[in-house]
Amino acid sequence: MRGAEPATLDKINRLFEHLRERVAFYSARLPAEPLKSLDELAAIPFTVKEDFRDHYPFGLFAVPLPEVARLHASSGTTGKPVLTGYTGGDLDTWGECMERVLRMGGVTADDVLQNAYGYGLFTGGLGFHIGAERIGCTVVPTSSGMTARQVMLIRDLGTTVLTCTPSYALVLAEALAAQAGPATRLRVGFFGAEPWTDGMRRQIEAGLGLEAFDIFGLTELGGPGVAVECSRHEGLHIFEDHFLAEVVDPDSGRPRAPGEEGELVLTSLTRRASPVVRYRTRDRVVLLDEQCGCGSPFRRMSKPRGRTDDMLIVRGVNVFPSAVEEVLLTVPGLSGNYQIGIDRSSGQQDRLTVLVEAAARVHLQSVGETARARLRELIGIRAEVTVLEPGTLPRSEGKARRVVDRGELKGG
Ligand code: ADP
Ligand code: ZN
Repeated sequence: MRGAEPATLDKINRLFEHLRERVAFYSARLPAEPLKSLDELAAIPFTVKEDFRDHYPFGLFAVPLPEVARLHASSGTTGKPVLTGYTGGDLDTWGECMERVLRMGGVTADDVLQNAYGYGLFTGGLGFHIGAERIGCTVVPTSSGMTARQVMLIRDLGTTVLTCTPSYALVLAEALAAQAGPATRLRVGFFGAEPWTDGMRRQIEAGLGLEAFDIFGLTELGGPGVAVECSRHEGLHIFEDHFLAEVVDPDSGRPRAPGEEGELVLTSLTRRASPVVRYRTRDRVVLLDEQCGCGSPFRRMSKPRGRTDDMLIVRGVNVFPSAVEEVLLTVPGLSGNYQIGIDRSSGQQDRLTVLVEAAARVHLQSVGETARARLRELIGIRAEVTVLEPGTLPRSEGKARRVVDRGELKGG
């Protein structure tokens, strides 16, 4: 959003003023004077996940607790959760962003929206909920899980919009196919909270009979509604009126040029209760500078490839699980249900085992051979590939666990 830089600079300076007076952590690290240009941002230290943990629970909050209307927390399973707060105004802003997300798929008051993201501290469920309520569509707050009931409701209620994680969308597609019944009225779906490839998109779209939109967000920035695809599906538009995005070299922290992959760094421009400055998301993206054909003024980022934490290093080659997924889904007869086992016990060399389910009746061994050869050829990794019968691997109701220690591999 090049043309709007003065507006962004103004928001940044107002944000810094708010933070300098209210959050000790930030007053120690923000410049005393307003920024004169956005270029000066690069000199301000990053905020990292540990900063949230170190200041748990309220150390990074910029308003007193009575002004906080809602709390959410990350799904992180170990240690203290990452906590984020919202004033009443922040909830309005979030709702506005989520409404915008749904409008990208043409959602209106006439739609029946089944929200199968988890409700609770996780931002997914309630985030979609408030966006859908603003539009006035009929909201069915199923939360995640109880798959047979989800399928029944999709059919009986005439659900037109589905929201859940992409891995759960695949589970629902499978369950729909397994339970005979009338055609559904599903039209669009919004899937996010974990990385997924275009190959996975094709499987979800074919399985559910809808158009699939990628949506991105994270607890530290208030949850979903940071970026979303438009109907061209060529990257996700970042809501730059509320979030300032930078992409940096993950090692040096220096800015990367548009078109170069790096780590996404986000600053919230308008949040009041839990603003965050230059948050290192650890997500790998490419910032796309060219104007999108849809005409939106917001710049785009590529579909996130994965988080630095999830990157595998196999004989010196860096591989994201999503790259493995991309290759697997080029092999006819393989499904998007897969798991990667990693064995770090044999010295410096990580060994990979890929378990993947067949999508249909195929010759398991020869399909496995093809997958093994393609992984070698396309991303330069050696991996054992075992193709399993459909229905063998664990299913996910939320974020799928793609990488496991080799000893934990199921079904292999
Ligand atoms: P946790 O950190 O416990 O997983 P969050 O729900 O805050 O909890 O997760 C946010 C993270 O989820 C992002 O930083 C990113 O890694 C991932 N994520 C969210 N949406 C997407 C998406 N559309 N594509 C890829 N990754 C995503
Ligand atoms: Zn667009």
